[in-house]
Formats: sequence, C-alpha cells, structure tokens
Amino acid sequence: MKYAIISDIHANLEALEAVLEDIENHEINQHICLGDIAGYGANPNECVELVRELNCPCIIGNHDAGAIGTADISGFNSAARVAVEWHKEVLTEENKVYLSSLNFVERIETFTVVHANLENPQEWGYIFNSHEAEYLFQFQKDTVCFFGHTHIQCSFQSNTVTPFSKTAKIKIKSGHKYLVNVGSVGQPRDGNPMAAYAIYDMYSNVITFRRVPYDIEKAQQKILDANLPNILASRLVMGK
Ligand code: ZN
Repeated sequence: MKYAIISDIHANLEALEAVLEDIENHEINQHICLGDIAGYGANPNECVELVRELNCPCIIGNHDAGAIGTADISGFNSAARVAVEWHKEVLTEENKVYLSSLNFVERIETFTVVHANLENPQEWGYIFNSHEAEYLFQFQKDTVCFFGHTHIQCSFQSNTVTPFSKTAKIKIKSGHKYLVNVGSVGQPRDGNPMAAYAIYDMYSNVITFRRVPYDIEKAQQKILDANLPNILASRLVMGK
C-alpha cells in the first residue's frame, strides 16, 4: 500500500486542493488525515467536505474538537479562539456530526496515527524535540507513528545519535522507532510557506516529505473577507 498522509488543513481550501492534486500524481492507494481540518482559515465546511469525500481514515485534532465544543479552548491564543468560535457557528450540523465521530488514535496496517501524542492524545501535548520524542517512544508499539499538531515537518528516530531529521526521504529500518510529523497543509510553521504532507510507500518502506505551492494570496484574502484576525492571513506567507 502507498499512503498519502495529510494533517492540519486548518480550513485552507486552496492549500488542500493543491495537495490533493499533487497526491494524484503519486499512485496513492489511500489518503489518511491526522486532524485539525478546522481552525484558523476561511473554509471549514469546504475542507471537511473534501476530506469526507476521500472516505479515508481520519482522527480528530484540537481545533476540530474546539469547533464542536468538546475541547477547552481557553488555552488558545486570541486569534485562534476567534476563528474556532466562528467555525462553531458556520460548520453545518452534518460536518459537526462527522468531526464528532473521529477517534483520537487509529491503527492502520502496521502503523499508528495520532494528532498530538500517544501518551495522552486528548490532552494535546506537543512533540518539539528529540527529548520529548525519546520519552514518548515508550507509548508507541508500532515501528512508525505519524503525528501533526506542531505544523513542523520532521521526524524523530530512536536508537540513533541524530534523532532529529528533516531529510526529504526516510528509509524505515527494523529495530528503530520513528515519530514522523507530516507537516501542515494549511498553515506550515517551519519557515516554508508551501503546503506540506507525506507519502508512506510500504512496498519500499520509504517515507517522502512533500511541499506544494498554492495560491496563498487567495487564502489570505478569504481570511480578511471573513473578518478573521489579520495575523491569520499574514502568517501564511511567512510559513509561521
Ligand atoms: Zn493544527
């Protein structure tokens, strides 16, 4: 099987469409979505509907949970809170029912997917560095676990001197564990504004990081037209 793994779409329709188009060129058998379809952007319904049409495994993210009222959003920064409150209002009942149906963790074939981390998925802790990853490997049964949440495309590998890797391809070797962040489709924060996702080719055991250009100006204009905070538009071009 060959999987395309997307995460943190954040209601950015232009970025999602560009990524889905790129995926079409890679003979993918199955999409997987790691959550945060909602939050920040101007097209929550359109993005949830596109993911639903993919008919693929999907897990819930903290902004999705915020938008359906099942997560405490008091810790969100004010811009994030404004957007999620707006999503709460505009998301259709059908799309809310879909988001409510999503689990925190799924196992697919021989790997695991989670939005935040496996220790306590519903508490939304972050994995930013190799110390945090090293601690979390104890909760990971499978060789590979994909995650999102930080919007930083990267991987951590156990049993190695350089656990942090940003190489475009990772060859999965037995005897190691891998925590792989596929990056964010709709709001990358690693200084690269292009939409991010990853491909997992289980035939060759290789994970490939992808970056895709998209119409950032159009996504920004929609955020401004929806009267969402300016920062949610301006940060897209900085990749932060
Ligand atoms: Zn996110």
